[in-house]
Amino acid sequence: PFKKLKEGLLSVTSTEESKDVISVDDKGGDSTVSITVVGASGDLAKKKIFPALFALFYEGCLPEHFTVFGYARSKMTDAELRTIVSKTLTCRIDKRENCSEKMDQFLKRCFYHSGQYDSEEHFTELDKKLKEHEGGRVSNRLFYLSIPPNIFIDAVRCASSSASSANGWTRVIVEKPFGRDSESSAALTRNLKQYLEEDQIFRYFDHYGIIRDIMQNHLLQILALFAMETPVSLDAEDIRNEKVKVLRSMKPLQLEDVVIGQYKSHAKGGINYPGYTDDKTVPKDSLTPTFAAAALFIDNARWDGVPFLMKAGKALNTKRYSKEIPDAYERLLLDAIEGERRLFIRSDELDAAWALFTPVLKELEEKKIIPEYYPYGSRGPS
Ligand code: NDP
Repeated sequence: PFKKLKEGLLSVTSTEESKDVISVDDKGGDSTVSITVVGASGDLAKKKIFPALFALFYEGCLPEHFTVFGYARSKMTDAELRTIVSKTLTCRIDKRENCSEKMDQFLKRCFYHSGQYDSEEHFTELDKKLKEHEGGRVSNRLFYLSIPPNIFIDAVRCASSSASSANGWTRVIVEKPFGRDSESSAALTRNLKQYLEEDQIFRYFDHYGIIRDIMQNHLLQILALFAMETPVSLDAEDIRNEKVKVLRSMKPLQLEDVVIGQYKSHAKGGINYPGYTDDKTVPKDSLTPTFAAAALFIDNARWDGVPFLMKAGKALNTKRYSKEIPDAYERLLLDAIEGERRLFIRSDELDAAWALFTPVLKELEEKKIIPEYYPYGSRGPS
């Protein structure tokens, strides 16, 4: 059904590029965007997604007609959702006027539907509610999957098969972690593509050890942007084509080019800083790296012989930046609504990125390589 929606979208706009559609009908008065936060009872939804949506609303960045639906198994009324959400909305814009008034306006647009993630029937009930709010306008829908990855596919399958009434675009934001190696990432992509086209998927990324958490995604993205050839244009596809080329020119990471570490407890100034395995949720014998440094090589004429050094770690003496970038989630949501794909990862990019790291990740795990221990708050392994 999502694929059919896409065809419906094409016939509405007579263009092959769904992103062209958005400039036509999002700003106009005849379309509406329904944003469904799947997993709305969770931490990420409360801490990041609803506050980011509110900030976008405050800044006038959301379309005139929009609705936000929370969806999760927890039982809640609309009023209860609004109470919870209202506690998490911050006026980062608090020096400006009308913030509380704007909050009330935003909260009136927030609704809740309780349902299972694997129930087509419950998603059909949601679909009916969305339709009522869409009021006969061209209906664009954004689903934000803020749920554990093992239920992504069920939720997409059920949302897809029940979405009979949407006649605009439908897009899905997928939270990290997106797989833990080449095979699991490819399986997830294969399953998602039963229900979605590539241009409907907006990914994000992971948590399993520092290499998967930071290197395979964030640092590799920076490296690809830095080392790629000049793209033909700043169009998302042209940029992504160059990124894929440079990623595919890289040699898979070798074990001898990697140092891994794990922080241990450390007493300083009368304070006892805990080690990684002191955390109750971490197995005492965990070999998970909390630090990694690696040298990557690009096999092309421009970068021949030049090592690219990557380093990332937790509990170090300095941070990369001290604060979270305030509007990262706002940017993410806005890009997804506008169909802007430059900052999202395409499947072939993801494959190329995993191909670089999967062999070394497997070797580290199979050989049970012991990380070098470094004191909490230090520069990492010497
Ligand atoms: P939660 O564990 O809080 O899960 C979100 C909601 O999903 C829960 O409120 C619960 O809702 C439902 N849920 C949780 N576990 C299960 C389960 N086993 N089976 C079915 N439903 C379940 O996750 P977060 O909100 O912290 O994160 C959401 C996603 O975003 C995850 O994939 C996470 O890895 C990722 N992420 C989170 C970040 C964060 O800062 N929290 C940062 C980056 C990524 P209910 O019981 O009401 O259905």
